[in-house]
Amino acid sequence: EVRVRFAPSPTGFLHLGGLRTALYNYLFAKQRGGALILRLEDTDRMRLIPGAADAIEDMLEWAGIPPDESSRRGGHYGPYVQSERLQLYSQAASSLLHTGHAYYCFCTNQRLELLKREAQRSGHVPRYDNRCRHLQPEQIQEKLALGVPHVVRFRLDAGAEPFQDLVFGWTRHEVAAVEGDPVILKADGFPTYHLASVVDDHHMRISHVLRGSEWLISTAKHLQLFAALRWSPPAYAHLPLLLNRDGSKLSKRQGDIFIQHFREQGVLPETLLDLVTHAGSGFNNNRIGRHLDELIQEFNISKITTHSALLDLDKLDEFNRVHLQRRIEDQQMCAELRDELRQRLLHTHGSDISDRAVLEPHYIQRVLQLRKGHICSLRELLDHSYSYLWIRPRVSLQQLKDVSAEAAVIAVAVIQLVGAGGSFSSTEQLNRELKLMASRLNTKYSSVMRVLRLALSAQQKGPSVAEMMLSLGEQEVCVRLQKALD
Ligand code: GLU
Repeated sequence: EVRVRFAPSPTGFLHLGGLRTALYNYLFAKQRGGALILRLEDTDRMRLIPGAADAIEDMLEWAGIPPDESSRRGGHYGPYVQSERLQLYSQAASSLLHTGHAYYCFCTNQRLELLKREAQRSGHVPRYDNRCRHLQPEQIQEKLALGVPHVVRFRLDAGAEPFQDLVFGWTRHEVAAVEGDPVILKADGFPTYHLASVVDDHHMRISHVLRGSEWLISTAKHLQLFAALRWSPPAYAHLPLLLNRDGSKLSKRQGDIFIQHFREQGVLPETLLDLVTHAGSGFNNNRIGRHLDELIQEFNISKITTHSALLDLDKLDEFNRVHLQRRIEDQQMCAELRDELRQRLLHTHGSDISDRAVLEPHYIQRVLQLRKGHICSLRELLDHSYSYLWIRPRVSLQQLKDVSAEAAVIAVAVIQLVGAGGSFSSTEQLNRELKLMASRLNTKYSSVMRVLRLALSAQQKGPSVAEMMLSLGEQEVCVRLQKALD
């Protein structure tokens, strides 16, 4: 049975890097009829951010990739929050102490600081010198009896067993030489990441670990922990770094890589999934506009490459335009978009919308159908350049006459033309007919255009007159011209 997990620390909100990891886990699980587990790694008590845990799960749901098991959804392998599983970690630590794979360490913070400073002074990477490995049983008993503060450390084996990563292939890291024995249980009784992660992956029966390549080196430690606990480890697949297109680090500080931010900007969830998988590898085909079910079908873990995934946020609009068009072309999705647009309209232009006709489903529907493929988000339709669609201009006949002395004649002729039907099939057709009409009236085409633009939008500039007329529809065009004549 395939069981994978997404294991964020609730020390921040979900960003694109996290979404990528969650998504690849989701794709891997769904492709194999497996389950995605959401586990919250909240053992770093100092860095917790209130509300982050809930927000992370909310964003996964919004993105359409909800976990199958989590504290919100339940499941047989809970609790799904590490701070509620302390017993399991201390049991594992005791068992490692018992078998000699772990030991108590009483080194004070001052001593550790000193080691660090010495290393820095001589240009080395700070490394714990494993001093407490060599304490005698009596010394340990004495210190424990005295209540001397302590941590538990894991005795790393020298030498490095290679392991086969599903992405990076055969890999080995001499962790013992670099870092010294890692702490597994802290002085406050909380586990560190390494112990908690291994214990949970075991008890939650995780079959595959897909995570960012920044954890690749930790895997050597985790495999030693699995061996010492006599548990069989999951398979590992490390995902390449996710970077900006120019190769710089995706910065959380810029604030614009948080999923919530994109959502507020009107970015569609499928846009983000598509963009993130475009940057990453693992697909045969890289066309724009893929949906989640297509991603599940096309995902191929053996196609993930080891070089960094470059994310091109400049393409966000283009992706969103394609996905918005897909939604508009889907009947049910389009109905939802209509409602959303209507809500937004009432919210932004509420008091200016004097006529309810522009809020009718068929009116909004036509606007969406005509603008699809051009607009990148619904919000664009609320911009000033589109306000003519929603707000009936107040234009007097005198104002029209200031533009052209023949304004009234022109308006009447256009009402007749529109009423006769047939001219609204395309902007080209409309322009042709308006030209013919101008020569029939023996007036300038440009005057016709200026009169129409003013009567329809009260603006001097904007989209082409034919485009405006098509978007407004025959009925609304007539109503506006008639109002100007009255
Ligand atoms: N809590 C770790 C993180 O924040 C999880 C790493 C892992 O997947 O093992 O990324």
